[in-house]
Amino acid sequence: MDEMIEFLHKGPLAPIKKWGTKWSIWPTHLVTACCGVELAHAFASGYDGERLGVLNFGMARQTNCIVVEGAITRKMARVLKMTYEQMPDPKFVIVMGVCGIKGGLFWNGYHMVKPFEVVPVKYFAPGCPPTPESLLRCFRALQDEIVTGEAKNTIVYPILRREEVEGEKKRKKRPKRVPPSPKYVAENPSVVVDIDRSEKWKEGEELRKQVSDILGELAKKVTITGRYRISARVEKDDFVEAGKRMLEAGFDHVKSVNVIDVPHENKFIVEYTVSSYLKPEFVRLLVTLVSEIDREDAMFPSMIEVWPSADYLERELHDLFGVWFDGNPWMGKNFLLAPDTPKNPLRKDFKLEPEVYVGGDGK
Ligand code: SF4
Repeated sequence: MDEMIEFLHKGPLAPIKKWGTKWSIWPTHLVTACCGVELAHAFASGYDGERLGVLNFGMARQTNCIVVEGAITRKMARVLKMTYEQMPDPKFVIVMGVCGIKGGLFWNGYHMVKPFEVVPVKYFAPGCPPTPESLLRCFRALQDEIVTGEAKNTIVYPILRREEVEGEKKRKKRPKRVPPSPKYVAENPSVVVDIDRSEKWKEGEELRKQVSDILGELAKKVTITGRYRISARVEKDDFVEAGKRMLEAGFDHVKSVNVIDVPHENKFIVEYTVSSYLKPEFVRLLVTLVSEIDREDAMFPSMIEVWPSADYLERELHDLFGVWFDGNPWMGKNFLLAPDTPKNPLRKDFKLEPEVYVGGDGK
């Protein structure tokens, strides 16, 4: 068997095999991020990547190339590895976008994995996103490598020597300097979520009064924070009651739930933004109920009895910050994050443990 493979690789049929592989590069579909749009563009009518013998294909087991389209998260790293291992040899990996090189926009994200730590990468197309031309150039470089066995950079930058440039004076080399340490380190900012911006929405005073009346003594402060934005401070223990009053008044759903970590004040700020589908006078209005809780005892009453639409949002925030929404049956389980993801990655003091990916052969 080995002899036959050797014969195929090096015998008289080798050029035909190489020729066949060169013109049959079939990338599997593995869209992981926004770079995927440029991949689609590269194979649409404008660039028509198919004319190069490259055809995107749906089945991993019948493909020989993966184009990693941008960011790879911890969850998708596993998918990338599984897909790669299902593909028959010879197989190639091309990575698009700076996200796949050094993390790009998400360079310090808790969830980012570099694809070259998971699978062997042949070519990188830098850019955010890279152009379709640069992706197609990766394919051309790969095709050349299949035939010649030689990997080549597709861009060669000319090296200009200053003294050779006409009219340019020779300049003294400046010593490389280490950047100085910062002169001033700012103090931790105080986080204020309900700054009064009533001057931006003078007509809103009537609605502010209405919200204030609905909440009555439960609201410590009701503020206009922007056009059609009102914020109401409510104590944690009064939150469910305040929610019930808002629901009765017509605020029938939760738009978003949010937690802000303020470690230097040892607190979390919890916000529920609610609105109305049914009461015409409230439809455009977003009211944010705000409360603060102790960071060491991050327990908050769940609002799912009042607004069922808060359920998934509370689960997410439990995963990301570790706030326990008392009464939500999902507490203590993983919802959004993969089971092996470290806990509470959006806390400000979160530190990611270094992770090592091991190849299929154990190396
Ligand atoms: S490189 Fe830019 S376009 Fe590509 S996945 Fe990252 S952010 Fe999106």
